[in-house]
Amino acid sequence: MNDLIIIGGGPAGSAAGVYAARKYLKSVLIAEEIGGQSTVSDGVENWIGTVKISGADLAKSLKDHLEAYKADKLETVIGERVEKLEKIDGGFQATTSSGKTYQAKAVLIASGASRKKLLAKGADTFEHKGVTYCASCDGPIFAGQDVVVVGGGNAGFETAAQLIAYAKSVTLIHKRAHFKAEPITVNKVLAHPNMKAITGVVPLEVTGDKFVTGLIIENVETKEQTTLPVSGVFVEIGVVPNTHFAKGVVELDEVGRVITDPKNQHTSVEGIWAAGDCTDELYHQNNIAAGDAVKALEDIYVHLKTK
Ligand SMILES: Cc1cc2nc3c(=O)[nH]c(=O)nc-3n(C[C@H](O)[C@H](O)[C@H](O)COP(=O)(O)OP(=O)(O)OC[C@H]3O[C@@H](n4cnc5c(N)ncnc54)[C@H](O)[C@@H]3O)c2cc1C
Repeated sequence: MNDLIIIGGGPAGSAAGVYAARKYLKSVLIAEEIGGQSTVSDGVENWIGTVKISGADLAKSLKDHLEAYKADKLETVIGERVEKLEKIDGGFQATTSSGKTYQAKAVLIASGASRKKLLAKGADTFEHKGVTYCASCDGPIFAGQDVVVVGGGNAGFETAAQLIAYAKSVTLIHKRAHFKAEPITVNKVLAHPNMKAITGVVPLEVTGDKFVTGLIIENVETKEQTTLPVSGVFVEIGVVPNTHFAKGVVELDEVGRVITDPKNQHTSVEGIWAAGDCTDELYHQNNIAAGDAVKALEDIYVHLKTK
């Protein structure tokens, strides 16, 4: 039996892998890929100690760091998803998408989050043909064009702020009358002459031929429909934690995030810790995910060696 199973290979999982190997814990890290969500980013400018690094290079450096320390203590299983996590005698068992099983005395859940998909008609068909989930990756393609941002939270306004630098116009749509984003950000972004917001509307259908040509929206009260003539639809409607395998195993909050003790990242179940974007941590950043995983590893080590 392993000492530890680490589920995830983003900043949290990678940090945990390095710490586990350096502490000589016999561990297995299972992840679909190494790098995590910001791998698609053009430039990460707040990874401490590095002025600017592309998401791809950040992923490579996490991978290199794991490789440098893993020796014979850390096994990495990349390209597999954990589908099931269960309690067994003396520990826990994780079952992957290919049916392989791994056992350990302790588990760190670091499986992060995925973007919520737009459910409007045509959104699937036009993904990567005008419908996008990453302004920093795809924004420049829409230089000089009319685009729409779906979502009135901070992410929506930050996306709009990025796009307004080169798009001809940016329209932000939001289903409620009031924005969730901070007022200071809202006011700053909406002050731009090429920026406008429409509230109280929902996206109904993405239209187009080969590429997007419009977005049909509907007023939630009057049901009146309007077509916005846009070539880009940027979706910022939140994230969903990747925790389906943990349901019924550890306590999750109402949106499926693992509830943790912020002092040590421990979950509701003895022997299971969680870190990063899959938890109920308030802030979602690379440094926080890595730091929380390090905190968890310190506690896991003490737990394993003093139990
Ligand atoms: C486009 C974009 C740009 C960003 N830019 C920045 C930035 O500039 N600075 C910043 O600080 N933050 C940025 N963020 C936020 C940052 O990326 C996240 O806070 C951070 O990646 C969280 O790390 P994590 O390790 O918790 O999870 P994630 O990065 O989500 O990694 C999750 C890992 O778990 C794996 N996984 C998921 N489900 C399973 C499963 N069932 N079984 C096995 N493995 C699984 C995934 O493959 C991945 O390896 C950005 C996010 C996005 C989307």
